[in-house]
Amino acid sequence: MAEVLVLAEHTGGGEVKKVTAELLTAARRLGSPSVVWTGPGAEAAAGRLAEFGAGRVYVADSADFGDYPVAPAAELLARLVAAKSPAAVLIAGTTEGKEIAGRLAVKTSSGVLTDAINITAGAGGAPAAEQPNFGGAITVHSRVTKGTPIIAVRPNAVSAEPAPGAAQLVPVEFAASAAAKAAKVTERAVADKGTRPDLTEAQIVVSGGRGTGSADGFKIIEELADSLGAAVGASRAVTDAGWYPHAFQVGQTGKTVSPQLYVAIGISGAIQHRAGMQTSKTIIAINKDPEAPIFEIADLGIVGDLFTVLPQLLDEVGARKG
Ligand SMILES: Cc1cc2nc3c(=O)[nH]c(=O)nc-3n(C[C@H](O)[C@H](O)[C@H](O)COP(=O)(O)OP(=O)(O)OC[C@H]3O[C@@H](n4cnc5c(N)ncnc54)[C@H](O)[C@@H]3O)c2cc1C
Repeated sequence: MAEVLVLAEHTGGGEVKKVTAELLTAARRLGSPSVVWTGPGAEAAAGRLAEFGAGRVYVADSADFGDYPVAPAAELLARLVAAKSPAAVLIAGTTEGKEIAGRLAVKTSSGVLTDAINITAGAGGAPAAEQPNFGGAITVHSRVTKGTPIIAVRPNAVSAEPAPGAAQLVPVEFAASAAAKAAKVTERAVADKGTRPDLTEAQIVVSGGRGTGSADGFKIIEELADSLGAAVGASRAVTDAGWYPHAFQVGQTGKTVSPQLYVAIGISGAIQHRAGMQTSKTIIAINKDPEAPIFEIADLGIVGDLFTVLPQLLDEVGARKG
């Protein structure tokens, strides 16, 4: 079976990010998945990678991946593409992942598809990707017609399903070229995320909009998120007003999320907001305006004042948690 390369997203300490399991699941539809591991931690991660069907794990344990952003990973993948002629390369559709995908496409003269929300084996086994366009109004089915298909897959879009694999560790010698060292990481600051899950990886996202009225009013969004173990998101109206940090903005010019559950509270549902959340599996909207466009895409809609609805919802969640 054709080999499919999957670039692992991990914390560096051997902790595999959830999106890697999702990529492995998608890769199994196309062939035999092999993980490409950059930096340390592969031994600790092998069990988890085996659980999701990784046959081999190409381990390039070089400090270059930590010292220089993006370019060394693209270079390593280009070398592996030349050596292994894989059927496809799957990369997480994160900010970094998309840049690696673009660089790899240039290096290998291949086509690249980003923001894929599904991958299937198309005619003749060639990978076909589904991409939402125009804020999710149109779904495009695309295929790469030149070189090795390189596909950046949106986190949370594919459900990770286990399947056993050998996860055989294969060391790969790697030292980044001078060109790949043009930009150096000079400092790292750990983001203070508290105990909440990462916005783009969370199973549940609770987002608030202008309807919350103020930074103080927005606190009830955090409260609901915490009661559900969810990440907090915000519309641009909220982040532009300074009620919540920009890092949590969902939408065209913010983060793209695809959780199991997205709760949109006091958000009208402008196309630019929908672009970042429309592929969520279940959408609940709470809005006092029954004509708000968010209801067009909601699976469940509650028409009401959020400051009346949310306290009741919090009580109910609290009661169910006992
Ligand atoms: C180039 C460009 C890029 C953009 N990128 C983004 C982006 O990435 N993300 C994004 O979100 N926006 C983006 N926008 C802005 C977008 O067009 C909207 O202006 C924005 O999403 C509106 O935010 P909102 O829904 O919170 O506010 P509003 O549109 O003002 O909606 C507020 C909603 O709250 C409801 N409401 C009010 N009070 C209550 C209450 N007490 N209880 C219940 N409901 C209540 C109202 O009925 C209304 O529907 C972008 C715009 C442009 C031009």
